[in-house]
Amino acid sequence: MARIGFVGLGNMGLPMARNLAKKGHEVRGYDLSTAAMDAAAQDGVGRAQSAADAARGADFVISMLPAGTHVRDAWLGAGGMAAACEPKAVLIDCSTIDVESARAVAAGRPMLDAPVSGGTMGAEAGTLTFMVGGPAEAFASAKPILEAMGRTIVHCGEAGAGQAAKLCNNMLLAISMIGTCEAFALAEKLGLSHEALFEVASKSSGQSWSLTTYCPVPGPVPGSPANRDYKPGFATALMLKDLGLSQQAAESAGAATPLGAAALALYRRFAEGGDAGTDFSGIIRMLRDEAR
Ligand code: NAD
Repeated sequence: MARIGFVGLGNMGLPMARNLAKKGHEVRGYDLSTAAMDAAAQDGVGRAQSAADAARGADFVISMLPAGTHVRDAWLGAGGMAAACEPKAVLIDCSTIDVESARAVAAGRPMLDAPVSGGTMGAEAGTLTFMVGGPAEAFASAKPILEAMGRTIVHCGEAGAGQAAKLCNNMLLAISMIGTCEAFALAEKLGLSHEALFEVASKSSGQSWSLTTYCPVPGPVPGSPANRDYKPGFATALMLKDLGLSQQAAESAGAATPLGAAALALYRRFAEGGDAGTDFSGIIRMLRDEAR
């Protein structure tokens, strides 16, 4: 069993740390929030006094923080984790952050960027997908630890490749969701039923995950957020954050992503209209509201 330091015990980090403790690992956690620390302690996660304290003496050091600035600070800032780690420790950042921050934090260290998909339900159930960038030896050591928190673990390449995979995937998801919503909104105007469009598109060339697993209108896929008034699921604010990261990456890499830019503008407008906290598939309501 491994000694694991875990920093960032929020909506995702807490259930992930809990799953590691349940598998018998010795987990010591740290979060700026006392409430998060108290909740973790009830789940068998030991209390560290600081991020550096959580890192000290651990075989694996994991962070699950909001954004690139928090990750840079926690690892590289004064009293940061990078300086406190054992030289042989494997370092894993699971946050969704910009590719540049991921590469800056990893520089010269046995570090993996390992963002996840699957949301809080996947974190609770231990069924997350991990997209991992970094050295092959570090990946091989970390794989059993990631398997305690997830079901699908993919090595995507060198440092930053995990974040790159996450950003490309989520940009594609945003674009396909908006396309699916536009198709349903047009069908409504043309007098075509939701069921008929679903029946045809789910079996033909319009098929996608946004349609068949996460259908943005109620009915065809009973478990989708559309059936519970767009309670998330995957909140619009998080999609907006990921689209900001994919556009930032496209700009610095010189890639043309005009539909990514359009998706970012639409989701920004949707969030600013008061829907930051609702599910991202609810953008169909904005399309209907803006129709002539
Ligand atoms: P969260 O805001 O619930 O948790 C973040 C935690 O980090 C908070 O408890 C905060 O107090 C703590 N924190 C911030 N700075 C810290 C520091 N310097 N030291 C210690 N603790 C610190 O966020 P979350 O929903 O758990 O998301 C974490 C990451 O996972 C984000 O990058 C997010 O984009 C990504 N993600 C989230 C989801 C989701 O559905 N929530 C899904 C996939 C990926």
